[in-house]
Amino acid sequence: METVIDSVEVKGGSFLIVLRDNPFHQSGGGQPGGRGRISGDNFELRVEDCRGKGDVSVITAKLIKGAVDDVIPGARVEVQVDLDWQAWVARMHSGEHALSRALERNFQGLRVFKVNIGEDEGLITLDYPEDLTWDKLWIAEEEANRVVNMDLAVRIEELTGDQALQDEALKANWERLQLDMPDSIRVVSLGDYDRVACCGLHVESTSQIGGVLVTGFKGSPSRWEVRYTVEPVRSALLDRWSRVVRRFSRDVGCQPEELEKVYGAAKEDAKSKAKLLERLRPFLVFPMTKVCLKGLSVFVMDLMSLGDLPSEIMTHQLRAKGEEDPRSISIGVCVSGGANRFAICRGGDVALDLCKWLRDNRDLGLKGGGSPDWVSGVFGDFNLELWIDRMKGEL
Ligand SMILES: [Zn+2]
Repeated sequence: METVIDSVEVKGGSFLIVLRDNPFHQSGGGQPGGRGRISGDNFELRVEDCRGKGDVSVITAKLIKGAVDDVIPGARVEVQVDLDWQAWVARMHSGEHALSRALERNFQGLRVFKVNIGEDEGLITLDYPEDLTWDKLWIAEEEANRVVNMDLAVRIEELTGDQALQDEALKANWERLQLDMPDSIRVVSLGDYDRVACCGLHVESTSQIGGVLVTGFKGSPSRWEVRYTVEPVRSALLDRWSRVVRRFSRDVGCQPEELEKVYGAAKEDAKSKAKLLERLRPFLVFPMTKVCLKGLSVFVMDLMSLGDLPSEIMTHQLRAKGEEDPRSISIGVCVSGGANRFAICRGGDVALDLCKWLRDNRDLGLKGGGSPDWVSGVFGDFNLELWIDRMKGEL
């Protein structure tokens, strides 16, 4: 469209312009203003925002062609609105209505009080005295998407202050309205689902939103921030996959694109720790207690209280004990992978077939196998006295 520049002000490298006829939508209520271009005879401006100031709309624009001095009041200009941006803002804004209401309807005590629509995502700030979780957000997300799929008509009405006050379904910032009741209040309804006082841009019917996707959240009771966006494609399968990624991405605290990198680094870290442990193992010495048994020595290494360990950590020391003292039996116990694990080693001069001993004493609850001089496996109760007693019988 063609119009005329009514006034110009230069402020911090930007032009503040008032057009005789303004086609750009105003910012407000967390919604960014219109964008586009203004072209004059010798200049071109990029419109970055549009704000209401009293009765006029003030456009913020940057010069991308021509000279500052050409941008003057009275200049005739051709104005182009960025319709893609306008459509995006309308979808994001309407999607926010659906999501905010779904959150408030499903969780008692939850109240949305601020919205901010950005370049790729929107931010909903809310009060909620309880823990917000992915499961709760997915309940709201599903409901918002049902509202989208129902393709409800978006209705805009102007109510008088009195009409608004009597409208029980209407959601508005009543504290502010009652301080300064305007002549008319613009009310936006998504079918019968949501009815709110709002002066923003909206789609004509909810299916134009596409779909609502919660991308993240943070906070603690009772202040939370929920990030969301709108996406044209939704399906149960995509939901399943995206939920895993969204949950994981929040747990790890990174963007989905970085998950592979973070996982790769964690894997490398685990590998190098395993290698380090492998190198240290021959040098690890755990305390052993000694019990005498028919002229033999029984050494006991009890690592049960150290928490979960790789059971191989006992191997080196038990075998070394057997070589060092041929008339000894060494018993090691630990917890590994959540199970109680044992390893028993005997020296060359001990006439006891450990494998056979294990088979003959199944009632002890030791399950495993090995060779005559070395057995290992899992067990239930640790009853050392009984184990040694049964060895005594075989010697
Ligand atoms: Zn709105």
